[in-house]
Amino acid sequence: MKIIAGAERSRPAFNELLREAEAKRFNVIICKSQSRFCRDLAIVETLINERFAELGIRFIGLSDNTDTAIRENRSYRSLIGIADEIFLQSTSSSIRSVFEKKMSDGEIIASFAKYGYKKDEKDKHHLVVDENVRGVLELIRNLYFKGYGYKKIADYLNEQKIDSPALYKKKQGCKLNIRGNQNFLWCEKTISTILKDKTYIGYVVQGKTQKLSYKSKKRLYMSDDKIYTLKEKHEAIYSEEDFEKIQKIMYERRRASCKTGKAHIFSGILKCEHCGNGMYRKDDNFRCRLHVMDKSKCSVNRIKYEEIESQVLKKINLYIKQYANMEDSIKKFQTNNVISRKVNNLKKQIKNFEKSIENIDHCIKNILILESTDILNDENIKTQIALLQRDKIEKKNEIAILNSELEKLQNADILKKQKEKIFAKYKHLKKLDSNIVQDLIEKITVADTGENRISIDWKF
Ligand SMILES: [Zn+2]
Repeated sequence: MKIIAGAERSRPAFNELLREAEAKRFNVIICKSQSRFCRDLAIVETLINERFAELGIRFIGLSDNTDTAIRENRSYRSLIGIADEIFLQSTSSSIRSVFEKKMSDGEIIASFAKYGYKKDEKDKHHLVVDENVRGVLELIRNLYFKGYGYKKIADYLNEQKIDSPALYKKKQGCKLNIRGNQNFLWCEKTISTILKDKTYIGYVVQGKTQKLSYKSKKRLYMSDDKIYTLKEKHEAIYSEEDFEKIQKIMYERRRASCKTGKAHIFSGILKCEHCGNGMYRKDDNFRCRLHVMDKSKCSVNRIKYEEIESQVLKKINLYIKQYANMEDSIKKFQTNNVISRKVNNLKKQIKNFEKSIENIDHCIKNILILESTDILNDENIKTQIALLQRDKIEKKNEIAILNSELEKLQNADILKKQKEKIFAKYKHLKKLDSNIVQDLIEKITVADTGENRISIDWKF
């Protein structure tokens, strides 16, 4: 007996379960409910009703009374599945529209206030300045004006034993969503994020990314017109003039470092494989930040700037080329746009099913008219209607499955177009710059040794 908590499709545990199912290591799955097992109806259909049945695996849902050992249970299970699906779809889109309304009204939807602010006790959608740390934010600004860079500011704050935003939050008793190895120190990224953040001049900026759909964890970056920015929503810590001055200095410094040819274009995305901390640049090398701060916590991990640059460039070109090759071979099979053809096909099928449902409704109505004229005996009518009703449920089932298929395809299409646009821009790349890196790369992980020290997490 094995217990797997909260299995979802993307979770490793779920995959393990499927592997073990294929290996026939068990023959019963007991789950809280069908929807807890998997939220995606199409998957429920193919897994529970088809593949598991083939493998002789019985599925039991405790709270929704589903059981594949009971033959008559199947249409009931489909119905439960559809109800779940419709519920998720509608809650997801209604939650999104509620959030959109809130964002356009300038209400704060994040669960925590940004560093420097706290939620107003009288109105939790409003921010007030957190006087405990106002001074720290002012200090950061003043140091920046004095000519300090992000790293120097971070080092200074660490030396002064000033709590980093993460540590401050932790001390306030907030539960933190910590990725990797968090050391609770100030770093370059924290400083640069603060200095670029319009929250500190009283703006509310929300909705920079949006989830692709309720089924997906992937987030899309929204275009500027979809981002909600509202001015003067709360008290500013930095004045507009200061903010503009900061951005101007940032621009000048970036340009100056570009001229010397040594701009740090990997800022914020370079991570040490051992400890997950950032790598920072000193002269011609990048080194693990944690190693530099505390040698006992992470072994030395050092890489030459040129090595990263040439490897990343090579990898980008290869990645784009592979994608182009794949596209070519797809095009050889099908000259028209594959996705749009599939979409049209699905829409056509959905229409057909809707037509059939209309016909069924029409039939039922006619039977009821016959009933009122006493031509048919009762039993006969009842069976006829029951049959038609069942047929109707099956057709609705099909429509729900097709619709979720359709949504998946349409989402894939949006992502694909974004990807194509960006890839076309960077074909046959000769030199890296920070735009390319920001557009394409989510994260670069650097290992200690080995031929392939660098691995890239792509944005697409
Ligand atoms: Zn490290």
